[in-house]
Amino acid sequence: MNIELPSALSHAYLVTGGGADSRAALARRLAAAYLCEGNGPAPCGQCKHCRKVEGGVHPDVSTLSPLPDRREISVDQARDLRSDAYVRPNEGRRKVYIIDPADAMNPAAQNALLKVLEDGPAYAAFLLLTDQPGKLLDTVRSRCEPLPLPPEDAPVDPELAEKAERLAELLLTRDEFEVAKGLTALELERPKADQLAALLAEAEKRAAKGIPADPRRAVKVLRALKACRENAVFNPNAGHTLGWIAATLFQET
Ligand SMILES: [Zn+2]
Repeated sequence: MNIELPSALSHAYLVTGGGADSRAALARRLAAAYLCEGNGPAPCGQCKHCRKVEGGVHPDVSTLSPLPDRREISVDQARDLRSDAYVRPNEGRRKVYIIDPADAMNPAAQNALLKVLEDGPAYAAFLLLTDQPGKLLDTVRSRCEPLPLPPEDAPVDPELAEKAERLAELLLTRDEFEVAKGLTALELERPKADQLAALLAEAEKRAAKGIPADPRRAVKVLRALKACRENAVFNPNAGHTLGWIAATLFQET
C-alpha cells in the first residue's frame, strides 16, 4: 500500500477553465488518487477504491451541487457538508468533496465552508470546479491550489493532434531519460516558434483530458505548459523552450 502519493496532493484544488466535462473528469481522477490503495502511481484504476470512484459509488466521495429546481448551493447544504467532513471516512483513508459548480454557492454558503477549507480534518479533500472563479470569495480562492485547464476550442489538424497526444503522454511519464530523449528528438526537428507554440498548447489540452496518469504528475505538466504559454517562453529557440520545460518538470521531483 502506497500511502505517500495521495497525501502529497493538496487538500483543496480550484479547477477552472476547460469544459464542464473535462473539469468533472479531472475531479474524478483526483478523487480516485486520494483514495487509491493500489501499487504504483495513483490512481491505479484497478483497486476497489478506483473502481468505486469511477463508478460514482464510493461512499467517501460526495458531490455538492444545487438541489433539483434550484440554481444555488444553499448555506444549509454547505453546513451539512461541513458537519459531514468531521465524520471519519467510511471505507477509504480520505473523504473527498467535489463542489460542482462551486460558483453556485452563494456568499453565505461560501462563508460556511471557509473554516473547514482552512483547517478541516487532514483526511478531508475539496475539489472546487468552476468556469467563473471570479464569483468565489477571495478567502475561498486563496485556500485552494489553482488548477486551471486550457480552453477548449475547435479541433486541430490530425497530424498536430497525433503529435500532441504523443508529446502529452511523454511528458506525463516520470522517466526523466525518456522525456529528455523525446524532447531532444523534437528539438532536432527544429520547429518554428509558432509550430512549437501550437504543439505545446495542444499537448496541454491532451494532458488535461484524462490521459490516465498520476495526477500529481499531470498537475506539474499542466503547470509547466501553462507557464510556457502565458510567458511565451518561445525564445530564442526550440531548444531553449524544451530545455526550460524539462527543467521545470524535473525540479524537486
Ligand atoms: Zn487504485
